[in-house]
Amino acid sequence: MGKDYTPLVATIDIGTTSTRAILFDYHGQEVAKHQIEYSTSAQDDIKRKRSQIISSEGISLTVSDDLEVESVDNKAGPTLQFPQPGWVECRPSHILANAVQCLAACLVTMENKNLDRDEKNKYKLISIGVANMRETTVVWSKKTGKPLYNGIVWNDTRNNDIVDEYTAKYSEKEREEMRTLCGCPISTYFSATKFRWLLKHVPEVKEAYEKADGDLMFGTIDSWLIYHLTNEKSHVTDVTNASRTNFMNIETNKYDDRLLKFWDVDTSKVILPEIRSSAEVYGHFKVPHLESIGYVESYLTDDALALLETIEGAPLAGCLGDQSASLVGQLAVRKGDAKCTYGTGAFLLYNTGDQTLISEHGALTTVGYWFPGLDESKDGKHSSKPQYALEGSIAVAGSVVQWLRDNLRLISKAQDVGPLASQVDNSGGVVFVPAFSGLFAPYWDSNSRGTIFGLTQYTSASHIARAALEGVCFQTRAILKAMISDAGASADFLEESSKATGHNPLSVLAVDGGMSKSDEMMQIQADILGPCVTVRRSINPECTALGAAIAAGFGVPKEDRIWGSLKECTDAILEGNKMYLAAGNTSLDFKATLSDEIRRKEWRLW
Ligand code: ADP
Repeated sequence: MGKDYTPLVATIDIGTTSTRAILFDYHGQEVAKHQIEYSTSAQDDIKRKRSQIISSEGISLTVSDDLEVESVDNKAGPTLQFPQPGWVECRPSHILANAVQCLAACLVTMENKNLDRDEKNKYKLISIGVANMRETTVVWSKKTGKPLYNGIVWNDTRNNDIVDEYTAKYSEKEREEMRTLCGCPISTYFSATKFRWLLKHVPEVKEAYEKADGDLMFGTIDSWLIYHLTNEKSHVTDVTNASRTNFMNIETNKYDDRLLKFWDVDTSKVILPEIRSSAEVYGHFKVPHLESIGYVESYLTDDALALLETIEGAPLAGCLGDQSASLVGQLAVRKGDAKCTYGTGAFLLYNTGDQTLISEHGALTTVGYWFPGLDESKDGKHSSKPQYALEGSIAVAGSVVQWLRDNLRLISKAQDVGPLASQVDNSGGVVFVPAFSGLFAPYWDSNSRGTIFGLTQYTSASHIARAALEGVCFQTRAILKAMISDAGASADFLEESSKATGHNPLSVLAVDGGMSKSDEMMQIQADILGPCVTVRRSINPECTALGAAIAAGFGVPKEDRIWGSLKECTDAILEGNKMYLAAGNTSLDFKATLSDEIRRKEWRLW
């Protein structure tokens, strides 16, 4: 590399349940990490306000008094809120403060590690990437920087009325034209219906829109974050996030007037973020002063602030929606690669290269990533054009485990679900469809709700736990079948018989996310997918953050890059993984253990 320092890339990862920052090195290994779980209750929030945030080295990063001067977001309360059934909101100011605090904590770790490193080998931060929950919609005032309402989170279904309204307003043909243009159907899930809900139901938002005085800003979480981390200079989003709004043309990667007209969005009344690639300099880091959006300056200690000031000017140079980020972090960068992340929801992405496939079977067309600075001649195989994916999203995955824990109290912690489910060999005839907030791919039914049936006197907690996990795994299988059909292969590849014909379009499903930590769950998934697919759990539990770090590594000018090409990057990370394995860690492959016959008999209802 010939540099007299050791370069690092940072990622700020805004998840659905927590925010984290991680610093990665050349081999994709974590050098520093800090995570803050979102508060979800008033009690939690009081604790959050009163307690200091302490780095892993025991250094205080925030002052201990109440952090908030006043509640200036539309509503007070914890970071994540569930105000009514089906409603999920987040407080944008908390998320921003948490992101900065996590970054500060990582810098403390980096500085401490630097004390033991020789002068020519000190760690230096090169660039910052953002990975974020997608679709979550924020509107704010350009004048004050304040949100006009809490962020509406991706799995919120309050906007059902908007779905019904737009479904009735347009013919099937018109709706299909809209889907073909942007890759996504009308659904509570995407940002367009969330924005329309805000315009219809929140007077402040409606007023700001009608005023048309250039004050109303719309964005997903990436836009909100980058805007505030660049001193309110850059109002941008990347193609992967924009592809989840229903506003972007999936072929041109630009806003499309036909789509904006479909959704009745007038861009003279609202400022949409500029759509950029996933790897380029969006702006330069500046510590945000958060008084105006509800935090006293002391949300950071003087020490934390001083450290953050040392990285002011660092480029924000990578941005990927979380699922695209994990596709990259799983190194699923070749056409035909697939990954599934089992977090709060589950998301399966199938890389289709630079081809935009419009699904005939209920999958979404989404942008995988776009790294325009890649030098094609260097690796030959990797393209600097936007790379696409078919996606199947499952609204409820890890959240069914939370439901078993918090609502049914069958388990006391999430990791107990696997052992409980594996106390029985099958679900004893119980079928559990965890459609708490409607069904996403490939069904797209926002009105369906969860069901458990097949209960008998014999049914135990273990049967219910097993059926819950199976419910998630079967949806994964349905999605995979849909995608494989779209890709032109026969969906019967999931059956043992296709082994004989050698027709196997997908041999490995790369998996990650909280729920994938359960060996039992992954074995059930392998059994349900059958003998042709190996379920391979990633060595790196932080694939999402790693993906955004890779983006940020390629977003800076060539001379500053940590990796020369995507091939060099994947080789370096694979080498890093080998070192990780040599240190005694394990990566696991899960293969089907049941024959087709037993599978068909056992799961005949699915
Ligand atoms: P997100 O990125 O959506 O915040 P994570 O990838 O951190 O989510 O995963 C969190 C989810 O994973 C939770 O819903 C939790 O119930 C589930 N989970 C965590 N650990 C386990 C486990 N060992 N077995 C099964 N589910 C788990």
